[in-house]
Formats: sequence, structure tokens, C-alpha cells
Amino acid sequence: MDCDKAIHRVYYYLDGELTVWRRWTIKRHLSKCPPCAQGFDFELELRQVVSSKCRDEVPPDLLRRIAEAIGEPRRPGDPPAAAAPPGGAPA
Ligand SMILES: [Zn+2]
Repeated sequence: MDCDKAIHRVYYYLDGELTVWRRWTIKRHLSKCPPCAQGFDFELELRQVVSSKCRDEVPPDLLRRIAEAIGEPRRPGDPPAAAAPPGGAPA
């Protein structure tokens, strides 16, 4: 399984829509691929925030981090992903 397939299947994984076999292949990939595992963590973090607040109140910074984790192209003019946000948001 490559990274692109893995990170997209993570969403189905979290929704409980995958078979046991596919869940296992995703887990195996995440265990060997830190970038994908990081994206998985972001998705879990997002769901925790959503479940504890209203869907419309998900912090924009968290959404941005998830978008970066799954490789979504950034808009022109956005700061580099590695740069800390201005003002120093708490980690
Ligand atoms: Zn990967």
C-alpha cells in the first residue's frame, strides 16, 4: 500500500467502514510510515475536537495542520508548513 492510498483509507478506517483485513493493512503501513501516522493522529485530534465542540468551531489552525498532513495543496501566499505560526500558537 502506498502513502496516498493509506492516508485516504484512514478516513474509512475511522468511520468503521473497512474490513478487518484492510484495517490491518493500514495499521501496518502507519507503523512503518511516520508521515502517514502523523496524519492519522491529526485526524484523531480533529475528531476529538469535533466531538467536544460544535462542528463549526473546529480551530482553523487544526484544520490547516490536517490539510498539510494529508498533502492538500496550500493556497498561494500561505506560509511554509514548517514555519511556526505568527504569535506562537500553543503546541
Ligand atoms: Zn505512508
